Amino acid sequence: APVVLWFRRDLRLGDHAALLEASRHSKHVLALYVLDDVLLKRSGAPRVAFLHGCLRALDEQLGGRLMVVHGDPATEVVRAARAIGAAAVHVSADRGPYGRRRDASVAKALAEHGIDWVETGSPYAVTPGRVVKPDGSPYRVFTPFHRAWLAHGWPSPAEPSRVDWVAPPSSLEIPRPPRVSATLPEPGEQAALNVWHAFLDGALATYAEDRDRPDLAGTTRLSPYLRWGCVHPRTLLADLDGSAGARALRTELCWREFHADVLWHRPETARENYDKRFDRMKHDDDPEAFERWCAGRTGYPIVDAGMRQLLAEGWMHNRVRMVVASFLVKDLHLPWWRGARHFMKHLVDGDLASNQLNWQWVAGCGTDAAPYFRIFNPLTQGEKFDPDGDYVRRYVPELRSVPGKAVHRLKNRPEAYPAPMVDHAHERQVALARYGEITTES
Ligand code: FAD
Repeated sequence: APVVLWFRRDLRLGDHAALLEASRHSKHVLALYVLDDVLLKRSGAPRVAFLHGCLRALDEQLGGRLMVVHGDPATEVVRAARAIGAAAVHVSADRGPYGRRRDASVAKALAEHGIDWVETGSPYAVTPGRVVKPDGSPYRVFTPFHRAWLAHGWPSPAEPSRVDWVAPPSSLEIPRPPRVSATLPEPGEQAALNVWHAFLDGALATYAEDRDRPDLAGTTRLSPYLRWGCVHPRTLLADLDGSAGARALRTELCWREFHADVLWHRPETARENYDKRFDRMKHDDDPEAFERWCAGRTGYPIVDAGMRQLLAEGWMHNRVRMVVASFLVKDLHLPWWRGARHFMKHLVDGDLASNQLNWQWVAGCGTDAAPYFRIFNPLTQGEKFDPDGDYVRRYVPELRSVPGKAVHRLKNRPEAYPAPMVDHAHERQVALARYGEITTES
């Protein structure tokens, strides 16, 4: 009997463990994608646009045989499976909070019709939940997790599989990507592999030194592709050797796995502080300050460049994500989840685990957090990581006439560019005092 391969965060055909497993059960595989309003409503327009592009690319790879349906997966997956008389539905595991609930209800609905549910692999090199301490409890600190993750290891990339893609009994047309003002990367598996191969031949050699420099093209920019599974991290890990750049990148990929692991063990941290002491933290409620941060009009050049890069590209450099997040939480005293929500609306790589837990890490309430009292100075961060000011000038046109690194610590502020909305030295003290209140009480 044929089987169904239900695609979710695995929009590729290469290194696909669930596809390989499906092909061992049957040569006749129906490729299915369900447009699920629960997820679509939570995704900002850039992410939806990129998703639709990835679906088109996948459909092309399948010779037009991707079955696209719209509705509740518990109904739609069963309907599709029954329509072709499938014996089983194969998936890559989704360990996110919603994915878990959804999959439990789909598996149950399938079982009522005698259809098997088979999970193989996940969007991670090591499936969340697998790396635990010797006593079985989860890791709370990155460094020991990283060590245990390396020791655990992962399988080699899955071999290619030969299947006959079943002609869909019916299918919706893949929706046209919504119009977005941000310039997005090219979607799909081939685009991901092209980006990766260009990185291997180029920036990998200097990645260890340059990855913190937003003015350089020093990182992979693979995050949107990893988000949708256009490439599997195992494919990347298999290409990395022992060089300094390779080791640094392996560590970054492990951060992605660590955050997914934390969210698996503590799904409530998508919304709640990981460190409960922070539940007592006092926050301001200043809608105008929040709007200025969102628009990139804080008067702090590196912060504004970052916030405008987010709007222009649906992406922001990691160093700058940390700086703008710190500014929101520790200079404006706004709650991290407001910033996280804005990021999720605009990021093309927006990922619940990576986003929420990185926000918490910066805010000081997450796992082995950057200590709260280590507060980024946005001026020195700019000078250090954008040493010639090129990054700021690229995204803040009002500052294009200011030469070199003078763009960070403005002496003569161009008229069109706002004055700093707060005094960093003062706000730093306010933040420290509030932190003192929650830590001395406990
Ligand atoms: P590279 O430097 O090339 O790294 C390769 C890959 O490693 C990335 O694609 C990503 O998958 C992973 N990675 C690197 N750094 C991290 C990290 N700190 N945490 C988790 N994974 C990492 N990343 C997301 O994918 N989605 C998000 O929604 C997201 N939100 C973030 C919010 C904040 C406040 C911060 C500080 C970081 C966030 N990150 C997020 C992590 C990181 O900024 C991006 O993964 C990275 O900038 C993507 O660019 P790249 O692919 O060129 O990274």
